Amino acid sequence: MFDSRHPFLLILKSEPYYGTPEWWDWYSDKYLHSREWRRFRQLRIEHAGYACEHCKKRIEPVGDSSHIHHKRYQTKNGRSILGREMLRDTSALCPECHAAVHEVRQIELFQDLPRKVA
Ligand SMILES: [Zn+2]
Ligand SMILES: [Zn+2]
Repeated sequence: MFDSRHPFLLILKSEPYYGTPEWWDWYSDKYLHSREWRRFRQLRIEHAGYACEHCKKRIEPVGDSSHIHHKRYQTKNGRSILGREMLRDTSALCPECHAAVHEVRQIELFQDLPRKVA
């Protein structure tokens, strides 16, 4: 039985609607700071052999030399996977490769949006 008073479960329960500014605040301020996420992060970096999965540069489990990137935040049905990520839902990256992944993704996203005439 889950204890609903468990702090992590309370964090998960308070997840705002995905993709809204509130969601990003919640994700960066609450979720990424939870003990459970930090534990997952540690495991994930161990699983990657302490190397960026893209450029193979060494990454450390603590500090800012390692980033865990979510390849997805939701299932195909729109259910949040936060708090139950699988290793394959994420990648272990150095900050440079992480930034590069997000740039590519943003370009893809922007291509779907109707163009504003500047
Ligand atoms: Zn890298
Ligand atoms: Zn990312």
